[in-house]
Amino acid sequence: MQGLMMNRQLMISSLLTHASQNHHDTEIVSRLPVGATHRYTYSDAHRRSRQLVRVLLALGVKAEDRIGTLAWNTHRHFEIYYAVSGMAAICHTINPRLFPEQIAYIANHADDRFIFFDVNFTKLVETLAPLCPTVKGWIALCQREEMPECAIPNLLCYEDLMAAQSDDYEWPEFDENTASSLCYTSGTTGNPKGVLYSHRSTVLHAYGSSVPDGLGLSARDCILPVVPMFHVNAWGLPYACALNGAKLVLPGPHLDGASLHSMFEEEGVTMSAGVPTIWLGLLNHLQENKLKLSTVKRLVIGGSAAPPAMIRSFDDLFGVTVLHAWGMTEMSPLGTVNTYKKKHLTLPAKDRDRIRLNQGRSIFGVEMKITDSDGNALPHDGKAFGDLLVRGPWITSGYFRSEGGEALVDGWFPTGDVATIDADGYMQITDRSKDVIKSGGEWISSIDLENIAVAHPAVAEAAVIGAVHPKWDERPLLVVIKKAGKDVTREDLIAFYEGKVAKWWIPDDVIFVDELPHTATGKLSKLQLRERLSDYRFPGA
Ligand code: AMP
Repeated sequence: MQGLMMNRQLMISSLLTHASQNHHDTEIVSRLPVGATHRYTYSDAHRRSRQLVRVLLALGVKAEDRIGTLAWNTHRHFEIYYAVSGMAAICHTINPRLFPEQIAYIANHADDRFIFFDVNFTKLVETLAPLCPTVKGWIALCQREEMPECAIPNLLCYEDLMAAQSDDYEWPEFDENTASSLCYTSGTTGNPKGVLYSHRSTVLHAYGSSVPDGLGLSARDCILPVVPMFHVNAWGLPYACALNGAKLVLPGPHLDGASLHSMFEEEGVTMSAGVPTIWLGLLNHLQENKLKLSTVKRLVIGGSAAPPAMIRSFDDLFGVTVLHAWGMTEMSPLGTVNTYKKKHLTLPAKDRDRIRLNQGRSIFGVEMKITDSDGNALPHDGKAFGDLLVRGPWITSGYFRSEGGEALVDGWFPTGDVATIDADGYMQITDRSKDVIKSGGEWISSIDLENIAVAHPAVAEAAVIGAVHPKWDERPLLVVIKKAGKDVTREDLIAFYEGKVAKWWIPDDVIFVDELPHTATGKLSKLQLRERLSDYRFPGA
């Protein structure tokens, strides 16, 4: 017997309709790439998104067409998200930090029809245009007077196009499993692969991430996603904010500590989200200038392991709770968030402290398991570590155009992460499987060793890689950037590990560097670091 409930489809457009009807005057504030601040409301965004559908229709865009973006977090990018998906086309966000050849590969693979771009990417677009023959037009996200002087063919002006159209458009309802957006990930080996989200997966993810033990969003929040809208849809926040009616602050390209601090204070930001590198910049700025955070209550840190020292600094020095979160492009991205359970609240501070440092518990909708190398399930005892697999309604079932072949193993998606899960469901990532250090047949967690290094007062950033060793195969090598004006020796750092990890985990050597390589999504690139140090040999080995 079927239930007698309405079968309304889960539509991305309904998130914005809801926000416009119930939070009409809640603001969306953008710091534009050219420096100005733009303000409007959910009601304005709803009107302009429908106007943008009219623009797309006039350009000949049809359902299923891929429409690319090379853009920062701004209100115009927000409008593109809703207009493109809302008319059943596919919003393809592209990471402008990739090499032009990679971007061209991605745009051609996706077969993008039009690409919207921020004017500070004009040079990049000049390089890309001849490499992307299927793109019929390049739309600059600006007013007529801000149009770049350039040699881009089929160049159009966003605000000119908008001015020519009305907003009399009604969002259609169609199958919720229809593709809505596309994001390529370079996290795996080989060419970048496309993750194709649906309306259903996006709306369910927006619900799932909003719950109190998820990101805990509400209409009383003011949220500034530092994570770019070209990195897994800014972790879904442009959707979840509309679902909750939260005020949204979009920082454009202004992601340095000083800019973030001024936006936090001026707009009354209560929550923000980004990768650890960003927060390192903010922490340094706050400490150097003796500043406070007067409205921020929660910071979501994910994308890479949040170092315990960072979690503690935000809490102890600034009264900000860090929500350590884990996920992947293939997971929309949210999988786990670290929050306490009731039974933890009465624990002594140091036991509680230990709990909040791991990657947290899965939000409803995400199932997790760990397996050994033969695929056998391992116990959730907080000790056994193995390959982490996931499944759920906002997790990919395969890559766009079947790139890379079958993506699932018995219906589960292998994350490529190595983790433990404890009896309370708390998951701890010990490594990317390719970053694990294998010493004498035993595994050493590079993340644990990095976390200890960055807790040293003279260390700004640290990476640990496995370097070749004649006897042990690999041994941990610590690579460190010192904090400005601070000094520390190799011996000090090696001694700093004593008593914190097993003796055989302690790095054999330390190298000091001025900078560490990062990927296009701001993560430490161990791959590049390993390449740079491929000639390294341990002293005396
Ligand atoms: P991406 O698809 O680019 O977002 O990368 C996903 C990968 O980032 C995951 O598979 C993890 O290896 C890593 N990652 C994300 N969040 C965390 C976290 N909180 N701690 C450790 N690694 C993380």
